[in-house]
Amino acid sequence: MPFAPIEPSLWYATARPGPETSALDTDMSADVCIVGAGYTGLSSAIHLAEKGVNVIVLDAEIVGFGGSGRNAGHCTPTFAHSNFAGVRKTVGAPYADRFIAAQADSADLVFGLIDRYGIDCDAVRTGYVEAAHTPAVLKRLEVRTADYNSLGKKTQLLDRAEAARRTGSSRYAGGWYHPDGGHLNPLGYVRGLARALLSLGGKIHTQSPVVSIVPSGTGWKVATAKGSVTADKVILGTGAYTTSYWPKLDRTFARLATAAFATEPLPEALIASIVPDNNTVVETRHDPASYRITADRRLVTTMMVEGRRGGDPEYTRALASRRFEWILPQLKGKRWEYYWYGELDIHPRTYPRLYDLAPGIVAATGFSGRGVPTGTAVGKILADWGMGTAKTDLAMPSDPLVAVSALLPLATRIALPYVRLVDQISAWRYGIRPPKY
Ligand SMILES: Cc1cc2nc3c(=O)[nH]c(=O)nc-3n(C[C@H](O)[C@H](O)[C@H](O)COP(=O)(O)OP(=O)(O)OC[C@H]3O[C@@H](n4cnc5c(N)ncnc54)[C@H](O)[C@@H]3O)c2cc1C
Repeated sequence: MPFAPIEPSLWYATARPGPETSALDTDMSADVCIVGAGYTGLSSAIHLAEKGVNVIVLDAEIVGFGGSGRNAGHCTPTFAHSNFAGVRKTVGAPYADRFIAAQADSADLVFGLIDRYGIDCDAVRTGYVEAAHTPAVLKRLEVRTADYNSLGKKTQLLDRAEAARRTGSSRYAGGWYHPDGGHLNPLGYVRGLARALLSLGGKIHTQSPVVSIVPSGTGWKVATAKGSVTADKVILGTGAYTTSYWPKLDRTFARLATAAFATEPLPEALIASIVPDNNTVVETRHDPASYRITADRRLVTTMMVEGRRGGDPEYTRALASRRFEWILPQLKGKRWEYYWYGELDIHPRTYPRLYDLAPGIVAATGFSGRGVPTGTAVGKILADWGMGTAKTDLAMPSDPLVAVSALLPLATRIALPYVRLVDQISAWRYGIRPPKY
């Protein structure tokens, strides 16, 4: 399928330039070939190259063309919808506690890579707030506090007044503060990862869509239109942008389009009235409003879209304005200067799965958002696999490819209006009357 262009995004206009890369036009070999130059692929490549493994990364387009170059840049090292008991139930022993630890420590990994390689991507680790859209949600946030603090994190429940101070909005019944989170320029981060990999001797070829992967000797031949990489092992990190190069890999998730918006630059005083501590804010709704301020003083937000939402840019921008006139009336009259689209790879579990596709080939898809920290963390797990760690010692179980129901894409589209209605009704029960969200 043709994907929306990346050029309209704010990040394309503001990220530091990426390294020079070229298309693959010859036959090469490597220890590990990685398909996809997003967070997942590049994190796995860096963690392998740091151990002296010879890696080649191939991307169909440019570095960061997928979600990694167009997301909102929130770094929120948590599971979006699950508490630890839920993760333990679905992931199972002995992996669940390792997977939980990898996710909970994923911001350390992101900011650690940024420090280690001097990545210039406007990264700030100022913490993040989950803003409770109803009082009922506070019970769930109490469980979150207990979960993450049991791992030594210093998270806090926020009362209404502190939530209002941190979010600039009087609409929240309270919230949850996690000091480990932060935000960054997502394209700047992924381009910085690419530079880091090249500095370690890894190779990257862009404009090189992989068309087939076939056995070759004891390994695999990964072919593009004009060249190939023969490697012992292959890691597939193509996320929501997966094309049909491996049978049914693009059926392991449903695509969900998301629109992103950035305002014109805002006055300092207005920003101070919104996020005085420069926190990154995500609501507890199923289709949450989220916001953070960029280095050039813009507010960035996203909205999951389907039908006219997304299909009609004017209508979509007007919806976003209506949302924010309610959440942050002080923003009234500010223009959305940038507007772009990206795709999420949605899995019903809401966190990724690792697929054992054939001896020597693995893939991870189904990030369902959260890819800044999670893609980086899963990339490290894939690198452990590439280094020969036994499957049973990895931080995620690897399963044979499991296609999601063919109805999931349709169900996801139908579910969105439904969950928005559920969010509205749960707010109405407390006398809270948000506009159509
Ligand atoms: C609008 C939007 C907002 C988001 N906001 C956030 C956020 O604030 N915080 C957060 O943590 N997450 C967010 N996400 C999710 C996050 O961006 C993704 O989960 C993450 O980027 C996935 O990274 P990845 O490396 O797995 O895949 P991607 O970044 O999608 O990279 C996949 C790459 O594979 C390449 N590829 C595909 N097929 C082939 C092929 N045949 N041959 C070669 N290359 C191929 C593509 O060109 C692409 O570059 C958001 C996503 C969107 C769309």
